[in-house]
Amino acid sequence: MSATVLVICPHADDGALFCGGLITRFAQAGWRVVLVRVTDDRTDAIDLSYDETIRVNTQQFNDAARLMGAETLELGYVTDCLGDVSRVELRECFIRLFRQYRPYAVVSFDPYAAYEPNLDHVVVSQAVEEAYWTATFDKHHPEHLAEGLAPHSVCERWYYARQLPKINCVVDIAPVLDIKIAAAAAHVEMIRNTLNQMRLQLRTAGQSVAALDAAIDSGDVQDFVRLWLERRGRLWGDAYGLAFAEVYRVDRFGAWEDYFQREAVPIPGAEPPVPFHLPLSMIEHGARLLP
Ligand SMILES: [Zn+2]
Repeated sequence: MSATVLVICPHADDGALFCGGLITRFAQAGWRVVLVRVTDDRTDAIDLSYDETIRVNTQQFNDAARLMGAETLELGYVTDCLGDVSRVELRECFIRLFRQYRPYAVVSFDPYAAYEPNLDHVVVSQAVEEAYWTATFDKHHPEHLAEGLAPHSVCERWYYARQLPKINCVVDIAPVLDIKIAAAAAHVEMIRNTLNQMRLQLRTAGQSVAALDAAIDSGDVQDFVRLWLERRGRLWGDAYGLAFAEVYRVDRFGAWEDYFQREAVPIPGAEPPVPFHLPLSMIEHGARLLP
């Protein structure tokens, strides 16, 4: 039986950049991977109108997802304005997705991450964290139940961040690094805008980097994306004895894990989507829990 993982990202490029290796490994292991984009990325391009920015970023989001083997789902919120959206409203969106897709795992920004300057990232991470447990309550959004949906509990939460509060899982991404780089580089306009932020900061310091200017002006961002993601992947790989790695904070049953491993028995007729005796899904596909 194949399992489903929901990867919830505020923006189109978050999936490939932060967890493109894990997404690809889930897909290659036969999982149904649904990449949820919360906003429309209307601000994230240079030299384009708002409408053109939305159109191009949506197309490049779909291209990147296809490369990684994921489906896409759009929530359509206005980018860089989630600070004005109620977390309770967003939480309802995620509760509904959990009840509709009934995922085994969810992948999201870590709500307890440090040094996160993007308010969209913070708001989405907090709403997902609350949706995780409120989706199990029959008294949260009973209108969903009237529509035929049922309470659901996600089994595993995989958190990524610029700086995780704790790392307890490392994923070997060497076999899929080229796919991750291709998926990230598919976001040409968003990458150009990211590089332009660096160019403007350098300019304030009275500096320029020719290769950076060339990538922005030509739109050929592949080399910069490779430089960026190989550096980041190698940094974590070096720390954990791998060539290239991504790191996560994962949570399953927490302090109940040992007790459940001893006491749990299969429900008659149920098909476990992953072997229960393993401490984590994906352990046979490059993931390793750290002591
Ligand atoms: Zn983002």
